[in-house]
Amino acid sequence: MRQKQLEAARKRLEARRQELATLIKDGNAGIAEIRAEREIEFADGAQSEEEQERIALVGAVETAELARVDGALARIDTGTYGMCAGCGEPIEQRRLEASPYAVQCAGCAGAVSPPARR
Ligand SMILES: [Zn+2]
Repeated sequence: MRQKQLEAARKRLEARRQELATLIKDGNAGIAEIRAEREIEFADGAQSEEEQERIALVGAVETAELARVDGALARIDTGTYGMCAGCGEPIEQRRLEASPYAVQCAGCAGAVSPPARR
């Protein structure tokens, strides 16, 4: 992969990382608010199961994506970014543009049907 492409990918990943960190921070602030409200309403702090589930899910998607972004940035540093973890071939540029933290080529990820086997 060319240096220019790598730098562009790094910029995109770092920008996304910043966004995710903000989302997670805001999500946590939201949870604190919900808890504070509930504690006023219920002296014993009881929460419905539904509420507990909602709180558990806040930030989960962002946290998972942040881990993928961090992984991609680490691969840029080690020089393995853009290489398929499955077959070792370069990942399609179009695929990386759509998903900058893809770790497999379209074939290995199953996006394209693998060659027919006998
Ligand atoms: Zn592959």
